[in-house]
Amino acid sequence: MKIIETIQEMKETILELKQKGKSIGFVPTMGYLHEGHRKLMEEARRENDIVVTSIFVNPLQFGPNEDYDRYPRDEEHDRGAIKDEKVDILFYPHVNEMYPKKQTIEMKVRRRVDALCGKSREGHFDGVVTVLTKLFNIIYPNRIYFGMKDAQQVAVVDALLRDYNFSITLRPVDTVRESDGLAKSSRNVNLSEQEREEAPYIYQALLKGRTLVKQGEKNPEVVIEEVSRFIREHTHGKIDYVDCLSYPELEKQETIKRKMILAVAVHFEHARLIDNIVFDSSGQPLTVII
Ligand code: AMP
Repeated sequence: MKIIETIQEMKETILELKQKGKSIGFVPTMGYLHEGHRKLMEEARRENDIVVTSIFVNPLQFGPNEDYDRYPRDEEHDRGAIKDEKVDILFYPHVNEMYPKKQTIEMKVRRRVDALCGKSREGHFDGVVTVLTKLFNIIYPNRIYFGMKDAQQVAVVDALLRDYNFSITLRPVDTVRESDGLAKSSRNVNLSEQEREEAPYIYQALLKGRTLVKQGEKNPEVVIEEVSRFIREHTHGKIDYVDCLSYPELEKQETIKRKMILAVAVHFEHARLIDNIVFDSSGQPLTVII
């Protein structure tokens, strides 16, 4: 595995590979890698000649009161984890390499962000599309791999590719979970012992909501209320949001009659956890193909 820290070397390397006709699969991450990330790399491996992963904790996507400084970082662990997955190139830029000075042009996401994490994390997705646009222009991937754990991110990236005519195929990948159902996340290490015990109830709450839909419930508000009640009953976490919206547009619906996402965010003391499931109008789980 080659580790590249500068944009210039990355561009030169990619140019050489493209001249040889190699296809490139790209997995952007913020590091502290776990099996969720590895799943994305495996998918990229299956479909491309070359797999590029980036590790970059993007300051632009963290709000002033968020956990940028506390975000877990472990370079040695990450380098080891990636080696196992036979990633060909790890792009590991320093923050000054990516943002040598303040951006002159700022990107603003207008739709798909006035709900879920976009609502409570103002500017977050502006930061996400900014760094991704830069990374796409540095790495020129044929395919990009994103986890459905961050389903709103998938919806926004889908819009970015369409609106700005990137010749890139988006591959959403199902959420990888612990055996007790908790979605794998770099932030799980920040949970206390008790919080870790409570955290799996988040996924159970989502399944409970989906069961209601399977049983014929068509009112999103009833589903939201049941999921919220279940989380309040089983955890000490503070609910940031529970919502049930159309996917990928992320718009409120009067009734459940099309592809929907049921999504939650819960604040524990040192970690904000998110999770979601996507299903059709009869509550059948859906693998997202965008
Ligand atoms: P992050 O490092 O948290 O920015 O995540 C990098 C990529 O890994 C994003 O596309 C995430 O959606 C994806 N990812 C994170 N956790 C999981 C998970 N448990 N299952 C599948 N993909 C995940």
